[in-house]
Order: sequence, then C-alpha cells, then structure tokens
Amino acid sequence: MAFNNLKLIEPILKAVAAEGYTTPTPIQQKAIPLVLDGNDLLGCAQTGTGKTAAFSIPIIQLLSTQKQSRPGIKALILTPTRELAIQINESLASYGKFTKIRHTVIFGGVSQLHQTNALKRGVDILVATPGRLLDLINQKFIDLRHLEIFVLDEADRMLDMGFIHDVKKLINIIPTKRQTLFFSATMPSEIQKLADTLLRNPKYVEV
Ligand code: AMP
Repeated sequence: MAFNNLKLIEPILKAVAAEGYTTPTPIQQKAIPLVLDGNDLLGCAQTGTGKTAAFSIPIIQLLSTQKQSRPGIKALILTPTRELAIQINESLASYGKFTKIRHTVIFGGVSQLHQTNALKRGVDILVATPGRLLDLINQKFIDLRHLEIFVLDEADRMLDMGFIHDVKKLINIIPTKRQTLFFSATMPSEIQKLADTLLRNPKYVEV
C-alpha cells in the first residue's frame, strides 16, 4: 500500500514525499480512508506509530477541499502536553505546506499575547492543551461554534494528568454535530466511558 492509494490530493502527496515518507504506517493505512469518509474513530495507538499524520492528513484534506468555507476554527486537536501540542502543530505545517490551511497552537505556561495575536489572524485548525484553551474561551478569544472536527489525543494521559474535568467542560461547549477522533494508548473503563459519550458509530482502529 502506498500513499497514492489513499485518495489524497496532490498538495498532500507532495508534502508527504517531501517529508521522505514512502509508505503509510498501519494506522495511517487504516485511519486515513475512514476519516476522509467522515467516520468517527476510536484509535488505540501509542506515540511513534505515525498517529499524528493519521489524523492530521485527512483533516487537512477535508478542510482544504471544502467548497464553501465559513471563517472560524473548524478543527480542534486537544492534547495533554505542550511538547505534544508543538509537535502536532509542526506536523500540520509539514503536511499542509502546499495547502492554504491555517493553524496555530496554544498552551499554558507562557504569555498568551503571541497566541491571541495568531488567533486574531484566523485559523482553520487549532492545536491546544486543555487549561489554556478553556482560559482563552472564557476570555472570548476563541469561538468554537463552527467546529466540525474534534480530535482528543492521548485520552488516557489526559486522565492521568488530571485534565479529565477540563476535557468534559470542553465537550459541553463544542457543537454536538461534529466528527470526533479519539485516540488513547490504553482503554481503561473511564476512558471507554468517555469514548462512548463522545463518539457516534465509531470505527475502531488498533495498532
Ligand atoms: P507519531 O506517532 O505521530 O508521533 O510519529 C512518529 C514519527 O514517525 C514522526 O517522527 C513522524 O515524522 C514519523 N512518520 C509518520 N508517518 C510516517 C511514514 N508514513 N513514514 C515514515 N515516517 C513517518
């Protein structure tokens, strides 16, 4: 199986080739077509499996091929740590570099000014850690009314790090009509329960 068989648009194939990738990883082979088809996804996958590209690539494609596009944040990727958030944002830059998709990243522990300035310029995909996201929503710098795709990355780590309450708050803010992609390395019962409340007829992908 090659990237060419995944029905990806030329700007993405070009970007993937520029990264030096020749073959999609197992999770990419399984997840990319399912996400492109609009499915909710429950992915059981560790970091290092190519999980970031498995959700980033189809999101970039779905958003950059929309005929009519309303302004506003259309995809939110929630991840537990600043390091992961920065890495995901860098991946979006790589895979989206031949598209017009705009993205930025927000996380706590630093001044919010640079982040709010980026938000004001407009973004299609936002990568965020939970605390700073809720903070900027409360300050009205972020409006998630037009959200279409929600990614919860490393759900089990969210639980371990004590973010589950923030995550639940967020879920009450975002539109119920959306596509949801849920990733976790392990599936303890509390995570399974959270997945059940978030996902609609999900496809299950395990690597
Ligand atoms: P991740 O699991 O998303 O953290 O990705 C792990 C690493 O694999 C990253 O450094 C990616 O750049 C790399 N990677 C992702 N997909 C591929 C691929 N199809 N071929 C080669 N390397 C990849």
